[in-house]
Amino acid sequence: MPMISPVLTPSHLGDRPSPPPEISAEARKQLPLPDQLPLVNCLARARIPTTQGPEIFLHLYENNIDKKEHLAIVFGEDVRSKSLFRRRAGESQQDRMTRGAYIGKLFPGRTEADKDTKLGKELRFDSNGELVRDADTTYQESTLVRIHSECYTGETAWSARCDCGEQFDEAGRIMGALGHGCIVYLRQEGRGIGLGEKLKAYNLQDLGADTVQANLLLRHPADGRNFSLATAILVDLGLTEIKLLTNNPDKIVAVEGKNREVTVLERVPMVPLAWASGKGINSKEIDGYLSTKIERMGHLLEKPIKIN
Ligand SMILES: [Zn+2]
Repeated sequence: MPMISPVLTPSHLGDRPSPPPEISAEARKQLPLPDQLPLVNCLARARIPTTQGPEIFLHLYENNIDKKEHLAIVFGEDVRSKSLFRRRAGESQQDRMTRGAYIGKLFPGRTEADKDTKLGKELRFDSNGELVRDADTTYQESTLVRIHSECYTGETAWSARCDCGEQFDEAGRIMGALGHGCIVYLRQEGRGIGLGEKLKAYNLQDLGADTVQANLLLRHPADGRNFSLATAILVDLGLTEIKLLTNNPDKIVAVEGKNREVTVLERVPMVPLAWASGKGINSKEIDGYLSTKIERMGHLLEKPIKIN
């Protein structure tokens, strides 16, 4: 995330954000999306300085459909979770600061969560204890969002079978440069099949199957992920008009939700670094993986990318 690129689209691409494809109301009804969003609740938020420069605010969520701790990695102190900031009966200002429901910056000896006297900013609440999202304290513009599903192998174990780690880094770099953004980090390893099954799928791939075939051989759907949690988290963060960093057209529709709780105003493409600049991951596995994304899963990438 070094702060080198002030532009929205990665500068090395010469590509422009494009409006998302139109999807009719009729087509939307056919999609396997839940009628109602899951309930989510932000338990804690903390400032994390990063090795790359910009600081992030990590939000941890619980929900009513699984037992996993999904996350929102937020760039910008002024993006606020409705559930985290809502006033709770009997709580103290210290309680609010401890869970991260404060404005501005914490410092030793600070006593009030709702008011930062050094910055002269104060949060307001309605009679029900709900945060009032006024422009002075809460970010109101459309925000760049990436939905990222956990990938232990790609993010932690240096895997060159997929480009998850690279895409995660690139999303952070762009958002850090912009100053605002949100990566919703869903704990659905291996397109929702879990790490153990993903490792089996890798063996089937070494035996000749592609990503989609391997999942089907293991009797899993090609993509078992559920993005309604991401939609619910975005609504909680007040990020309802967004720019989505993705190549996956299905993700746009899925993130918007059946009732269009979120609107994707722009799609910002994500081009593998190896195609754009010759840097990035290079392996025969990643070529096969990316080809499958394009040819079998309808991703909006053209191969090879022309470099201006
Ligand atoms: Zn991956």
